[in-house]
Amino acid sequence: MSATCSRLAPSPTGALHLGNARTFLWNWALARTRGWQLLMRIEDFDGPRIQPGTGMAALETLQWLGLDWDGEPMVQSSDRGPYLDAMERLAREGLVYPCSLSRRDIASAASAPHEDEHETCFSASLRPQDAGESQPFQSTPGVHWRFLVSPGPELVVDELSGKHEFRPSEACGDFVAWTVRDEPAYQLAVVVDDLRQEVSDVIRGNDLLSSAARQQLIYQTLGATPPRWWHLPLVRGTDGRRLAKRHGDTRLDSYRKLGTPSDRIVGLLAYWCGLLPERQSLQAQDVLTLFDMSTLPKDDIVFTPEDDSWLRG
Ligand code: GLU
Repeated sequence: MSATCSRLAPSPTGALHLGNARTFLWNWALARTRGWQLLMRIEDFDGPRIQPGTGMAALETLQWLGLDWDGEPMVQSSDRGPYLDAMERLAREGLVYPCSLSRRDIASAASAPHEDEHETCFSASLRPQDAGESQPFQSTPGVHWRFLVSPGPELVVDELSGKHEFRPSEACGDFVAWTVRDEPAYQLAVVVDDLRQEVSDVIRGNDLLSSAARQQLIYQTLGATPPRWWHLPLVRGTDGRRLAKRHGDTRLDSYRKLGTPSDRIVGLLAYWCGLLPERQSLQAQDVLTLFDMSTLPKDDIVFTPEDDSWLRG
């Protein structure tokens, strides 16, 4: 295995949209121009949001764009063993504990409203008395397991945007490591996978920057070194919100069905990466010739009606 390794990690929660594709294209181009290894991982531990079949479809769409990767894709759900091993170790060391409190219980104990709509800060006052004690890990219906977050700052150094200080104990508190669905939660699964796949460089959207702080806590407890982080600015709609369904159908497959050639999509994504002065058709291989990480815009990109018209031809 080469010393430097990155990965593409789509979640099969729906078809790939332009925002994901731009991150994947940049990740691919960085890895390929530097001769890094590039792995593919389907992150299908995302509970009810998973749509069966969309993982393999995402791979086919990425291939259509002209992207490739090394070796066979890894599918998380194909083997729960590594996640169970990590939980057993964390439980033995008293770093995770079972919790059956509902979202509402947690919200009513939160000291301040939390801006993240998907998450409520878990106050340390809600911890069971024996949190922190060694115990065997066992999955029980209706119970999830939380990672015990110590107070204090956590410094994340990002290759693109520099240093960021987070306080996970105040921002999210003890976060979920194992879900009520009897599956590893994203924060745990991603660390276990990046460690076992020996990923040295994680490249993804900057909405996951604060997650890097939590992931570093898990790395520390496992006695491992975190990867280098590269969090890319996001693609947003004209309303400033993260590109999503509300901005219309920006799925690659939908443009493909309309007859948009892959070169047009790649050209738009390359333009969004600062590699082209204007939209033009481009093959993925030509992105490698043009690639220059210093041209990546520092701010988020806005998907405009002109972009949509360009793709519709
Ligand atoms: N599977 C995640 C996503 O599609 C990416 C997670 C990661 O790169 O750490 O958003």
